[in-house]
Amino acid sequence: MDDAELQAWIEQVSLASFGRPFVHRARFNRRLTSTGGRYFMKSHDIEISWLQWETYGREETEKIIKHELCHYHLHLLKRGYKHRDPDFKTLLARVGGSRYCQSLPQARPKQAYKYKLVCADCRTEYLRKRKVDVRKYACGKCRGKLKSYPLDFTKPS
Ligand SMILES: [Zn+2]
Ligand SMILES: [Zn+2]
Repeated sequence: MDDAELQAWIEQVSLASFGRPFVHRARFNRRLTSTGGRYFMKSHDIEISWLQWETYGREETEKIIKHELCHYHLHLLKRGYKHRDPDFKTLLARVGGSRYCQSLPQARPKQAYKYKLVCADCRTEYLRKRKVDVRKYACGKCRGKLKSYPLDFTKPS
């Protein structure tokens, strides 16, 4: 799958599910990991996360495409194109789009880390899966003293 194929795919979904053409640009974004897709209000372009495609494949990615196309078409039609707008909700339900742009898991599952080491000097944080004897190791950046906290007891940063 490359950008040209993605473009053709989105054009086809647009006609089939919305009965309207997609006449702007679509591309994969290889660095986009927090959301499955994005719609750009200024350029009207759509970006799809490469990770979304790789992780979930065609069916789930098509739902993201429909979600972004809901933003796209409603915005161009000057209708309610934001998540909370009734127009958006109605259209999304009709075409079967994914409910959220954000459908990606964290690239690294947080549960895997059990300890957070914090440098007492420069405040750099390190995540570790196993308990580390902080008397034996120093901060990798400034050689300062490290403190270890079990992750369950720290506030999410
Ligand atoms: Zn959205
Ligand atoms: Zn440090």
